[in-house]
Amino acid sequence: MKKRVLITGGAGFIGSHLCDYLLGEGYHVICADNLITGTMKNIEHLRGKKDFKFKRHDVTEYIRVKGGLDYVLHFASPASPVDYLKYPIQTLKVGSLGTHNALGVAKEKKAIFLLASTSEVYGDPLVNPQPESYWGHVNPVGPRGCYDEAKRFAESITMAYHRAHKMDTKIVRIFNTHGPRMREDDGRVIPNFITQALKGASMTIYGDGSQTRSFCYVSDMVEGIHRLMNSKINDPVNIGNPAERAILEIAKIIKGLTGAESKVIFKTLPVDDPRVRCPDISKAKKFLKWTPKVGLEEGLKATISYFRAKNYNA
Ligand code: UDP
Repeated sequence: MKKRVLITGGAGFIGSHLCDYLLGEGYHVICADNLITGTMKNIEHLRGKKDFKFKRHDVTEYIRVKGGLDYVLHFASPASPVDYLKYPIQTLKVGSLGTHNALGVAKEKKAIFLLASTSEVYGDPLVNPQPESYWGHVNPVGPRGCYDEAKRFAESITMAYHRAHKMDTKIVRIFNTHGPRMREDDGRVIPNFITQALKGASMTIYGDGSQTRSFCYVSDMVEGIHRLMNSKINDPVNIGNPAERAILEIAKIIKGLTGAESKVIFKTLPVDDPRVRCPDISKAKKFLKWTPKVGLEEGLKATISYFRAKNYNA
C-alpha cells in the first residue's frame, strides 16, 4: 500500500516541488490549495496521474479527506513579503485556523503532521547564524507581523497538539529558497533581480544592499523536508543553505550570470527588513544527515534558465 500524503498549499512553489518529489518516492499525493498565491500551472503536469489528486480548498475551512492519511504536510500560506502584505488577514487565518484544521485532520487520521514554518520566526535576529534554540526578535505589530506571528502561533499549536494529544508532529523552519516555479511577480529578491536582469532593467536594491540572506535551492529543500517527515524529531529543525551573502553581492552574481547590462538602483528598505539571516544547520546535519548539495551559483544558473525559458526564449 502506498503511503498517502495530504499537502496543503501543494500548488505553491515549494508545495508543488514536494508533490513531484513524493510522487517520485512512491507516495500517493493529495494536494489542496485555494490558489490565492499558488497556481494550477505548477501542478498541470501531475493532473491525471493515478497517484495524484487535486482539491481546490481553503484550509481555513474544515478539511475533509476520504480514506486514510499517513502524513499531513501543511504548506499553505502566502510566503513572500509582497504577498503577505497584500493578504495579511488570509496569512493570519491560514497560519492559525488553517493550522488548527490541518492538525485536526492529521489527528483524526492518526497521521504524522509536518508544519512548514519559516526563518521569519527569528524576526530581525540579534544572533547570527540562527540556531533553533534562538527565540527570535519579532515586531508583532509591524507589516511583517502577520506572517511572523501566524507562523509562531502555528508552531505553538503544533507543539500543543504534540504534547496534549501525543501526536507525531514536525516543524521545518524554511530559510530563503529559490528555483523554478517562483512567480515572477512574487516580489522576492531572486525573481526580481533575474527578471530585471533579463529585461536589461535596473536591479532594485532595497536599502544599501548590505543586509544578508542565505539561499537554498529547492531540490535540497524538499529532500531535507522528506528526511524530516520520516525522522523521530518533534522539535523545530532549520533547513536552508548557510552560504550567507549581502544582497548587493547577489545582484552582482545574477548580473554576471545573465550577462546583463543592468545598473543597480537603490530604493527604500522595507520596514522591519531583517539585517541578517543565516541558518545554523548543525541539527539537520546531525539528526537528518542532511546537507545542501547545490551551490549558490549552480542553483542560480538553474533558476535563471527557468525564467529565461519561460519568458524570453518562447
Ligand atoms: N530585496 C531587494 N530588492 C528587491 C527585492 C528584495 O533588495 O527587488 C531585498 C529585501 O529588502 C530583503 C532581501 O532582498 O532584504 C530578501 O528579500 P525577499 O523579499 O526575497 O525575502 P525576505 O528574506 O525578506 O523574506
